[in-house]
Amino acid sequence: MSLAPGATIGILGGGQLGRMIALAAADLGLRAHVYAPEADQPAFDVAAAFTCAAYGDEDALARFAAAVDVVTYEFENVPEATAALLARLKPVRPGPSALAAAQDRLVEKRFLEGLGAPVAPFADAPDETALREALARFGGHGILKTRRLGYDGKGQVRLRPGDDPRAALDAIEGAPAILEALVPFAREISVVAARGIDGAFAAWDPGENEHADHVLSLTRVPARTTPATSAAAVALARRILDALDCVGVMGVELFVVGRGADERLVVNEIAPRVHNSGHWTDPGAVTSQFEQHVRAICGWPLGSTARRGRIEMRNLLGDGALGWRDALATPDAHLRLYGKRDRAPGRKMGHVTRIFPEV
Ligand code: AMP
Repeated sequence: MSLAPGATIGILGGGQLGRMIALAAADLGLRAHVYAPEADQPAFDVAAAFTCAAYGDEDALARFAAAVDVVTYEFENVPEATAALLARLKPVRPGPSALAAAQDRLVEKRFLEGLGAPVAPFADAPDETALREALARFGGHGILKTRRLGYDGKGQVRLRPGDDPRAALDAIEGAPAILEALVPFAREISVVAARGIDGAFAAWDPGENEHADHVLSLTRVPARTTPATSAAAVALARRILDALDCVGVMGVELFVVGRGADERLVVNEIAPRVHNSGHWTDPGAVTSQFEQHVRAICGWPLGSTARRGRIEMRNLLGDGALGWRDALATPDAHLRLYGKRDRAPGRKMGHVTRIFPEV
């Protein structure tokens, strides 16, 4: 089903990702209706309509579904019951299989392994005994990660030989978790890609990511990998999007182990939504990830992912947002601010994209 301009896109989640999807929708003559439980959301300011209600509020969800033509989301932890209720009423894109695979790290790892995609050695760690066994197998080193609701390093505990596994489980409040072996990566990269309703696929060049306190701080495009590694990363992303029958944009985070001819890839995690490491595409590519997502979920043809140059995208985190004037004074810098009222350390307040001539 293909929508026409004038149609309304429903977006679950009111953060900066929802805001930028809503703006892209408006540019294409579409309306956005944002649904989020929290007040004062960045996306409310730019949407044609918004609903402030809980994800479990069935009446509000039904009214929302009646008011929109397609439903999408800006975060992968949409409660299963919310997605299921909406999917009975309107198309939800990307669909339930993408959500299921991305919501639970154990399901995600098993899905990736089943596809033949390389992942870090992992073990289910439902209790202390299982965790001790897994740690022994991984030489005492590993990262304990909650299966659900972890992001930006939250819900993770690094374990070294001699550490107390009990204390690590206490730190994540006994939540169901997996242990992952440490990947000795040289770089972290991501592929942001889109799949259309007809199965068409388009990816931007992989970006290389740097983090500060587990939060993305910088994306450089292209990533400093060999062309073969970049091509392999894009091919992996394509297999993942195809397997999930994904309609929309998805981010695939990967580790690159080794350098040069010895490079190999390990998939870290997938996110069936527009991705922070793809923010540079507005305006660093012919089609931004936000426009591409809107095109895909409307059943429209995908646009060109060609880059306009060499790119650096820097997140403005916490007080870093106070640097907005500097960005305005930099001739080749493009500033995006999310309109958040309160700054907090590490909080994503905006970003700056710079486009340089290709070397
Ligand atoms: P995640 O929430 O899984 O994306 O993890 C956040 C960050 O922790 C990643 O971007 C890596 O820098 C680091 N990390 C996660 N898993 C591993 C791993 N298995 N080995 C080494 N570093 C990791």
